[in-house]
Amino acid sequence: MIYLDYQATTPDAPEVAAAMQPWISEKFANPHSPSRWGREAAAAIEVARKQVEQAIGLPGGRLAFTGSATEALNWAIKGVMEKAPKDRNRIVTVDTEHAAVLDTCEWLEDKGCDVVRLPVGLDGLLDLDEVKAALDERTALVAVMLVNNEIGVIQPVAEVARLAHDAGALMLCDAVQGLGRVDLSEGPDLVAVSAHKIHGPKAIGALWMRNGVEPAPLIHGGGQEMGIRSGTLSPELCVGFGAAAKLASERRSTDHAHVERLWEAVRGELGRGWAINGSTDRRYPGNLNLRREGLDAARLISDLRDIAFSLGSACASGSGRPSHVLRAIGLSDREARSSVRLGFGRYTTEEELISAVRRIDAAARAQQGLAA
Ligand code: PLP
Repeated sequence: MIYLDYQATTPDAPEVAAAMQPWISEKFANPHSPSRWGREAAAAIEVARKQVEQAIGLPGGRLAFTGSATEALNWAIKGVMEKAPKDRNRIVTVDTEHAAVLDTCEWLEDKGCDVVRLPVGLDGLLDLDEVKAALDERTALVAVMLVNNEIGVIQPVAEVARLAHDAGALMLCDAVQGLGRVDLSEGPDLVAVSAHKIHGPKAIGALWMRNGVEPAPLIHGGGQEMGIRSGTLSPELCVGFGAAAKLASERRSTDHAHVERLWEAVRGELGRGWAINGSTDRRYPGNLNLRREGLDAARLISDLRDIAFSLGSACASGSGRPSHVLRAIGLSDREARSSVRLGFGRYTTEEELISAVRRIDAAARAQQGLAA
């Protein structure tokens, strides 16, 4: 199999599996119990916490582990809105955010919150004047992602945070696709991240909170995680997340150079008839969202069974609906259904990527009755 679905999830790093192993096979103590073994597990979790904080790279905050980034985003949005003064009930977000943000906002809208969803341009980027116009003293929270999971574009997070603060609002950044890859400039008050997008284990995420910012708890119980996120922590998942974050920080420039090389190689290889969705300037280069007039993308994906790639996004793929992100950048339903996403990274070789792109191009041409 050639794996080109790095935005859906990333292969586990061998270093991560090795770090997790003792915590799976021998060390099973509850990290919240006072025994020597419990304290040893708690200490390993604190090391992991620091490693994830360092990969986020923002000063003056603390981090709580969660069961996923989806949970971290739900917690941040619902928890901030619960504590917001009654006359600040507006959330400003963007049409191209992940469903974990958009669906949470919709749920709160049904409960009376005022939700403003900002459009993006054809390049997938926010217009800062529109952000400014949407913000006033009624705004409690601005939620804008760092790197888009479908089209890879990088939003101007620092500028948005500045505008949010000028209006007295907090800024939440979904940094799931950017962690360890794209600088998270100072600015956000809350940051959500996930281990499985950086070669770590699935089912663990985290919420970073600037000191003094504390959303109301989403999960109540035994008072773990500073009393604000209950539930017994999993030492193996936390240690795995920490190891993945440490590796991402250490390998950052090597990984980036590798992915840039792949991006250049793949762009050079693209045959005629393909267009790139989203900005080609402000983007993470490990995401290539391609469109081809008249292509049946779902058929292409099922025809090429030994290449793992995706429709607009893994989440949209199951629903049968065309991707909301591609629709938001102005594509028609038909154009959105003619788009595929190739995601590559640390373990992708140039040979396999080029061979996959050639086969995708040939299969697309064959589907359209064109000569190879
Ligand atoms: N935000 C973005 C941008 C994502 O790509 C994803 C995962 O696809 C999530 C949030 C949710 O992350 P998790 O799988 O940890 O719930």
